[in-house]
Amino acid sequence: TSLEDTLLAAIRTIPDYPKPGILFRDITTLLGNARAFRRAVDELVHPYAGTKIDKIAGIEARGFILGGAIAHQLSAGFIPIRKKGKLPHDTVRVAYSLEYGVDEMEMHKDAVKEGEKVILVDDLIATGGTAEGATRLLRQMGADIVAACFVIDLPDLGGRAKLEALGVEVRTLIA
Ligand code: IMP
Repeated sequence: TSLEDTLLAAIRTIPDYPKPGILFRDITTLLGNARAFRRAVDELVHPYAGTKIDKIAGIEARGFILGGAIAHQLSAGFIPIRKKGKLPHDTVRVAYSLEYGVDEMEMHKDAVKEGEKVILVDDLIATGGTAEGATRLLRQMGADIVAACFVIDLPDLGGRAKLEALGVEVRTLIA
């Protein structure tokens, strides 16, 4: 089976979640499928094998799961980017836009050093607001963002274009 078919078959779509009219793409079924999970991680990692990547930055919460697996495969460190108020030490904070409203996310100030090569990871990119916020945090601390990787792209919502306009290379597995 092609990668795309394997991944598409492993993702569950939930209508009207979390609100009426929204089609939620649920990757818990992909994570629970050993073959699909492995293929997704392998495919995201593949272009960077043999490249020196210092850290993977994962966005709470599904970006932690994928990002942890990717960090292990690339022998990189891991940076959690979290919703505000969850990290115990000194943080940098950024407001980012959601489909309806704004929220804030944080990263530890000492999580990344100037010039370190970082790959940003999340499960899905929609409007790109979340990934844009994470990009701003990482760059504020001097990270060199090599790429932003997602399993799913919702292309109609324009997230890829938003990140590319910031000079971030975007990698996604299925649209
Ligand atoms: P964006 O900021 O509009 O790009 O939304 C992306 C963020 O919202 C990511 O952290 C995703 O995990 C989450 N998200 C938005 N829509 C979905 C969905 O259909 N399934 C899973 N996560 C979603």
